Amino acid sequence: MSGVVDHLAELTGFRDRDVMDVTLVSALRDLLMPRSIAIYRCVGEPGEQRWLTRARLRGDEVVASADSVWVDLQMLPRVDDHPRRLECLRQRTVLQVRDGGGAWVTLFPLVTDREVVGVLEVYTGSRLRESSRRMVSSVLRIYHNFQGLLDYSERDTLTGLLNRKTFDESFLKAVSEVPVTPASPPPADGRRHPSARPPRYFIGVIDIDHFKSINDRFGHLIGDEVLLLLSRLMRSSFRFNDLLYRFGGEEFVVLMRCEDEHDAAHAFERFRANVEHYNFPQVGQITVSVGFTEIRGGDSPAVAFDRADKAVYHAKGQGRNLVCSHAELVAQGVMQEAAQASEVELF
Ligand code: GH3
Ligand code: MG
Ligand code: MG
Repeated sequence: MSGVVDHLAELTGFRDRDVMDVTLVSALRDLLMPRSIAIYRCVGEPGEQRWLTRARLRGDEVVASADSVWVDLQMLPRVDDHPRRLECLRQRTVLQVRDGGGAWVTLFPLVTDREVVGVLEVYTGSRLRESSRRMVSSVLRIYHNFQGLLDYSERDTLTGLLNRKTFDESFLKAVSEVPVTPASPPPADGRRHPSARPPRYFIGVIDIDHFKSINDRFGHLIGDEVLLLLSRLMRSSFRFNDLLYRFGGEEFVVLMRCEDEHDAAHAFERFRANVEHYNFPQVGQITVSVGFTEIRGGDSPAVAFDRADKAVYHAKGQGRNLVCSHAELVAQGVMQEAAQASEVELF
């Protein structure tokens, strides 16, 4: 019993979800001594869903393996490739079956308040006892409750997107991977060698056009519904691992990893067009203005945000319903680079 309590204390000692999932499989591995144990999450849009490995440990392994959070969706196995996991997800109950190789597989659904998001899969040499299954289910309930508490502090209550408070941490994680000197140009053969180049991150600021008049004409409740629907359009337009924030009011932020400026522009443009073509109940058509910029080595969250925000301001001035790149505006001479912080401090 004290072993279980020790593990629970460790599990709830983290705020980082990646670490929590690794801690959960390590704890259950120690308690159940299985052949292997793993957490898989179902990611992607309906019809295109895949299994993302959050943490996986074999009985003899010391360190858990996991898919990178920035993995390409197409590289992951399709949900149908693992029908047992899918069945557990759909039935929302614990499943136990004998594997072809003689092992037993027990699957536990991972639920949030709204939906089933993944499964815990345990391979054992013999059938998992009823008492063990109950213990795992209890640990999962605590894990679920703790994730709910994290959501409450990290997510916006109206839209469920991340809130501004959590932005700085993710931003600084991203910026720490970006070299201070600019990335070297792509090879002359035009081919992409993603693993050879440092990752590039972009931040985009999205602001609804004339939102005040939507509130004035239809009332705040309908205004709030527009915000909620817009957040859903964000989820379906951007990739599953892009970080989506509501910064307050009708201002949204996206933090994404992209190959280059062109890919980032394409993603924001697709979102802008999706909003323009969506029919919002009662309200009809709305549009958004978007400004984006690449995150540079040494950037602070406020400095990068300010560049993207200036590009939004420019889009508003140009008639709205536009995506503007800060770098492009500077290259065109429309906008000037802001003075470096050190220069500002001199005066
Ligand atoms: P622009 O195209 O220049 O962005 O025009 P705008 O009317 O969207 O600009 P502005 O930023 O001045 O107005 C934002 C409005 O958003 C003000 C406020 O009435 C509304 N708003 C802010 N937060 C909320 C919210 O949580 N719910 C609702 N319904 N409205 C909000
Ligand atoms: Mg605004
Ligand atoms: Mg606005």
